[in-house]
Amino acid sequence: MLEQLLDETLIALNQVVEQSAYPLRARETGRVTHVGGGIARIKGLSSIRSEELVRFPDDVLGVAINLEPHEVGVILLGDSDRLTAGIDVSATGREADAPVGEGLLGRVVDATGRVLDSGGPLRFKERRPVERPAPTIIERAPVTVPLETGIKAIDALIPIGRGQRELIVGDRQTGKTSVAVDTIINQRNRGVICVYCAIGQRGTAVARVINTLHQYRALENTIVVVASDEDPPGLRYITPYAATTMAEYFLEQGKDVLIVYDDLTRHARAYRELSLLLRRPPGREAYPGDIFYLHARLLERAAHLHQRSGGGSLTALPIIETQAQDISAYIPTNLISITDGQIYLSPTLFHKGLLPAIDVGKSISRVGGKAQFPAFRSVSGDLRLSYSQFEELETFARFATRLDEETRATIEHGRRVREVLKQAEHHPLRSSEQMVVLKAVSAGLLDHVILDKIDDAETAIQKHVLDELPDLCGQMETGKKLSESQWEQVLEVARKAIAGVEDGS
Ligand code: ATP
Ligand code: MG
Repeated sequence: MLEQLLDETLIALNQVVEQSAYPLRARETGRVTHVGGGIARIKGLSSIRSEELVRFPDDVLGVAINLEPHEVGVILLGDSDRLTAGIDVSATGREADAPVGEGLLGRVVDATGRVLDSGGPLRFKERRPVERPAPTIIERAPVTVPLETGIKAIDALIPIGRGQRELIVGDRQTGKTSVAVDTIINQRNRGVICVYCAIGQRGTAVARVINTLHQYRALENTIVVVASDEDPPGLRYITPYAATTMAEYFLEQGKDVLIVYDDLTRHARAYRELSLLLRRPPGREAYPGDIFYLHARLLERAAHLHQRSGGGSLTALPIIETQAQDISAYIPTNLISITDGQIYLSPTLFHKGLLPAIDVGKSISRVGGKAQFPAFRSVSGDLRLSYSQFEELETFARFATRLDEETRATIEHGRRVREVLKQAEHHPLRSSEQMVVLKAVSAGLLDHVILDKIDDAETAIQKHVLDELPDLCGQMETGKKLSESQWEQVLEVARKAIAGVEDGS
């Protein structure tokens, strides 16, 4: 009788163990057979799961990613200098996870929650897995609200919506980070929480970004997650997933979140390094075949949630570095196809001093147009078209000595639009400030102003319109459409402002 009862209890207990997410099995231990280059191979961990954390001596953690019949390939998240073959390790029964909570805002951490600033211990609510399923179609809603970057060329011509994935792509030193950082700065009073995820960059570059965010009071609202070029490739690999988990904590509370991955080229390289060491078969450009899936899985987590799922949004701005403007390389083409559009930064424009060096013709935002404020749409409607016509004409006109009056006028107008689209770094503008200037230039008000004076004219227009028509500016900020007569009022004030600048010359 007692035996039967014991048996039944044992069966029931086993069932519980089977069904539980973290089985109560005995901690399994294994032995390292090889370690080096940021990976370790282990024998003896026969029931380990994929993505499970493995504990090494000195509190170094690793993640099991290669499960083979007699061996497990583990990527190391910490320093492997003191690890050697022959040491014993244990499986933890836990998947790789990251801390989440409000306490992370304003902090600089790594993917595992290690503090990298001087702000004392990290206060967090709980730890959540770094790999989490993306929201389902049912939970999603179309992109409807703009994510204002404060950059004229983007907000007017390549508008981004909350919940969108927009790639920032360009050669090295073309201003990619600046576009992303300026976008973060512009969120400071808009209630959008930001996560800046630095992958594989030099420590000094990351420090510069942190300083800028601090200087422009944007750090309080931002979590900085870093894996520098000196960190092991395993840490560089999981960092964007961990950063997304930290961002999703706020998304699930119905908040709007922006995440920047700077950059995924270095992330792909870290994964390539690991895969080759783990002897996975290389594919195009020696990247493992699943790199596409890895990036797609990451960016699928960006979403605008339906009201019944809380209504929050996670906008993703992944950055990709190209070599010699080759956007048809493997990683750039992958990401172009995964995202909802790209902002292309051109080294040619950068060297001409046309900053931000956004090549409007090669940039696109596939869903953001629907989220653009109606007031903005009426301003930027044909700006894009007339601007690209101008670019074509300008190239063509270089070979022509004599131009007819109409062509000359189109070119002179286009030059003024280009001048207006220039913008200093870390100087995001409010929607109304952008709209009044763009309206003035597209109405041809600046066509007779000499190029050197455009900047002064822009400042004068913004100042006068704000001083004289504060209510209309307020209306523009809310995104409500302006009537013809209201625009006429704006243009009248702009004319006066421009006249003042011209007189002063
Ligand atoms: P990397 O490839 O090294 O990551 P990047 O493409 O991220 O470079 P940034 O670091 O953002 O480029 O910018 C390169 C340089 O250009 C920086 O010195 C930055 O200050 C300057 N810069 C970027 N945008 C502007 C701008 N709008 N106005 C003036 N200077 C700018
Ligand atoms: Mg950069």
